[in-house]
Amino acid sequence: MQNVLLILAGGIGKRLNNSTKIPKQYINFGSTNAIEYILKNLNKNFFDLILIVCDKKMKNKFLKNLKKKFYWHNIFFTQSGYNRQESSKKGVLFLKKFNPKKILIHDAARPLIDNNLIEKIINKLDNYSVCTPYITHQDYVKYKIKKFIINNQNLKFIQTPQGFLYKSILRAHIQNKNINAKDDTMLTENIGLKTKLIKGSKKNIKLTLNEDIDIFKLLKRKIIRSGIGYDIHKINFKSKKKLVLCGVKIQHPPLIGHSDADVGYHAICDSILGALSMNDIGHYFNNKNKKWKNANSEIFMKFCNQELLKKSFSIFNLDINFICEKPNIKKYTKKMKENISRILKINKNQIGIKATTNEKIGFIGMGEGIAAESIIQIINE
Ligand code: ZN
Repeated sequence: MQNVLLILAGGIGKRLNNSTKIPKQYINFGSTNAIEYILKNLNKNFFDLILIVCDKKMKNKFLKNLKKKFYWHNIFFTQSGYNRQESSKKGVLFLKKFNPKKILIHDAARPLIDNNLIEKIINKLDNYSVCTPYITHQDYVKYKIKKFIINNQNLKFIQTPQGFLYKSILRAHIQNKNINAKDDTMLTENIGLKTKLIKGSKKNIKLTLNEDIDIFKLLKRKIIRSGIGYDIHKINFKSKKKLVLCGVKIQHPPLIGHSDADVGYHAICDSILGALSMNDIGHYFNNKNKKWKNANSEIFMKFCNQELLKKSFSIFNLDINFICEKPNIKKYTKKMKENISRILKINKNQIGIKATTNEKIGFIGMGEGIAAESIIQIINE
């Protein structure tokens, strides 16, 4: 076996004051926790195997179905130790049976992995047995002891992933007593191996304090998706019922449909489902199912909003366009926005509602039907 990645996820994170008491690497940020975020963004071509060292209880609670989620079979787990050094040792010993050539050891609390940096470290291990990224800080350093000047350039802040020839780190772990090492290069240096330092990145932050979480949220990759929806219904001039558009009852003959025929809501639903790469609204609420006869289309809207939440998306903006000769939509847009805002839990200023006539052309132009189209942008942060 060539390359393995060992992710250390045993830390408790005492400094991070999160009210949920969940260790930082398991806190959900949008659709993933920090460990899942690493796996999601990692270029898996670099590694033959990934080993996660963590507590078994945490694994069962927070790291379910990783293989399925990330389409990758070679993910293994082993129980963490009582400190970082012990966890690292357990991981390294676990890998002995696979006889890897190179190993990268990474802290799960650094979710913003950089594939270019990983590649660089792997390549450096062709000529060095130990390689780690570091950064410097430009801020002036004040030290408590008077007249003691520290040159910033001499201060090196060590990051992970750290790369080792497997046999070197294995030997270092066996030969070192438990010295509560804060990183693994300390162990290899203790047995006389030199560390090759390469430039890391300030973006490779470690989630330690609450403000690190805020920085991570700003830096993490956001997924924005768009969706389009269109619907049209015929007007039933014989009915005495009212027309319903975006939940607003309007003094006008209603539309013909299995449900309440709310073209506005139906177009919005299809745009949400489209943005989520799902099927159209008819797939989930079949118009042959009696259950949905005369149904309030608010039910469909609520279903779509649940799907958004399930997939950790929120609405960025929504733009609806009605195409009809009558009624005059402008009179109802305020109420429509209130309804949409209430159901989809978004602000009214995120919603646009416009209308146009069909210039008396075609069956909409002849006043026989009403159409609506909707475009939506959703974001996963
Ligand atoms: Zn419809």
